[in-house]
Amino acid sequence: MPETETCRYISSYDGCTHCQDPAYAQGFCRFHYQAYQAGEVTAEGYLDDRLSDQARRRAINFHGISPEAVYVGPGSRGSSGSGAG
Ligand SMILES: [Zn+2]
Repeated sequence: MPETETCRYISSYDGCTHCQDPAYAQGFCRFHYQAYQAGEVTAEGYLDDRLSDQARRRAINFHGISPEAVYVGPGSRGSSGSGAG
C-alpha cells in the first residue's frame, strides 16, 4: 500500500509534533512550503528563529496540528475552526 507522505514541518511548540497535512513539495505541505520559500521555515523543517512576527509564528506552528494537541491561551476556547478550504 502506498505511504501517505505528510508534511515534515516540526512544530516548535514541543519540538516533535509534525504537521499532518499531506506533502506538497520538498516534503512540506503547501502552507509550510510557502513559508519555507519565504525563509520562515528552515530546510530542516523548523520554524526559523529569526522570524519575529508572533502572529505569523503561531500561524506556522499550529498549521496542520490538531488543536487538541496545542492548548494555547488561558480562557480562549470555543472557537470553531473549519478553515480547511
Ligand atoms: Zn505543513
